[in-house]
Amino acid sequence: MKKKFIITIDTEGDNLWEVRNSEKSMSRISNRNGAYIERFQLLCEKYGYIPTYLTNYEMALSEPFRDLARAGVKDHKLEIGMHLHAFNSPPLYNLTDRRGGNKAYAGEYPLAVLDKKIEYLTKFLEDNFQTPIKSHRGGRWYIDAEYIGLLAKHGYTVDCTVTPGMDWRDNKGQTQDSKGIDYRGFPKSAYEMSAREPARHGKSGMVEVPVTVKADLSVRKYARAMLWGEKITFGKWFRPTGNNLNELIEIVEWNKKKKTDYIEFMLHSSELMPGGSPTFAYEWQIERLYDELEELFAYMSADYEGVGLADYAARFLTKGKQGGFSCR
Ligand SMILES: [Zn+2]
Repeated sequence: MKKKFIITIDTEGDNLWEVRNSEKSMSRISNRNGAYIERFQLLCEKYGYIPTYLTNYEMALSEPFRDLARAGVKDHKLEIGMHLHAFNSPPLYNLTDRRGGNKAYAGEYPLAVLDKKIEYLTKFLEDNFQTPIKSHRGGRWYIDAEYIGLLAKHGYTVDCTVTPGMDWRDNKGQTQDSKGIDYRGFPKSAYEMSAREPARHGKSGMVEVPVTVKADLSVRKYARAMLWGEKITFGKWFRPTGNNLNELIEIVEWNKKKKTDYIEFMLHSSELMPGGSPTFAYEWQIERLYDELEELFAYMSADYEGVGLADYAARFLTKGKQGGFSCR
């Protein structure tokens, strides 16, 4: 049986890597990359893959993307999910402490405020794209147990924020003691999440489908880390740079031998536009990205078939209830 190929696209404004955490900077966020998504969609359709566009607030306002997505949803050629950038998603809420110096994580807001942000964006996406919203990825790779509880309350069935083996604690948020999540020791394959800490296996009704990350822990690297006291958290994730086809194929080969029944790819919509990200600043880099994607997608088509996140999660929960799956 073929494994599932889950394509996740964080669909967000142009070059947010360069947007600072200030009102002025945030008010200038543009969404021009919405006009560049169609080429990627057509490539997916060529192989029958069904990308999930995890969409944030400003991209729900992009007309070219909205038109493409509405038609695609009707034809079951794509899925729309939510990508919440809590720092820039209505209703806005002013966290006065700015000593972290970075954009706020969802967990820095009072729970009632986060609840309102989820409620607002869910409805906004459902109205704009005329489809139920069931899948989610947290901004800045942030998810916690209370957040999962809120998502379940708002009808979500699946999240894909976990990056197994990666530790984001060095990345501060906006407030003084804020930090990212440490995903070392988290499951590498799908599982039902808990809405209580630690947010791992549980019965929230929400399925976590972690991004595919291959541990990259050579003996040399381990020895270096021991010697210099460096953190050993680096993994190779299934994410194209336009110059890493061999690495992506190596991850596919590794994934084929694993027990897991899926592989999960990630990219930002802004990375599909020249100048939309630091990785793809020029047109030739975008062309090279598409050359590599074409080769990768064709290569995978013998062993993998496309599925949207919500469909994957629905099947996962049914399988679990029939006893066909053990939560390990
Ligand atoms: Zn994002």
